Amino acid sequence: MIRHRHGDYRWQDIDVHPYKEDGTIFKSVTRQTLFHGADDLNVELRYFEVGVDGHTTLERHQHAHLVTIIRGSGQVLVGDKISEIGLHDVVQIPPFTWHQFRATNDEELGFLCIVNPVRDRPQRPGPAELDELNSNDSVAGFIRV
Ligand code: MN
Repeated sequence: MIRHRHGDYRWQDIDVHPYKEDGTIFKSVTRQTLFHGADDLNVELRYFEVGVDGHTTLERHQHAHLVTIIRGSGQVLVGDKISEIGLHDVVQIPPFTWHQFRATNDEELGFLCIVNPVRDRPQRPGPAELDELNSNDSVAGFIRV
């Protein structure tokens, strides 16, 4: 199977969806699912694009992510660490680790994300978790909730 490119950061027969439809807090993010798992490849491959100044949901979950940046740059929170990320960087999000991607550099941030097709629902921080996150000044300044 070859999923041919169809325009910039678009693929043949792949629809562009809102990032999430569960009412969680995010800004200017789209999702395209390029691969749903087949043969012995028990993975989904998605492309997410965060618009300028946008961000993904601050969340954690038992399943892990493997992310590769293919458009633009930005920053990511993984646990309590904030890092600059750019083209071709690879980011591993371990299980049950807070994470949020932001397009902070006046350009889009686009990344491929590999994930298990069978996975738990993301958790968002409650008041106690937010207090803990906000106790770290750099994290408090970064997160968008
Ligand atoms: Mn996640």
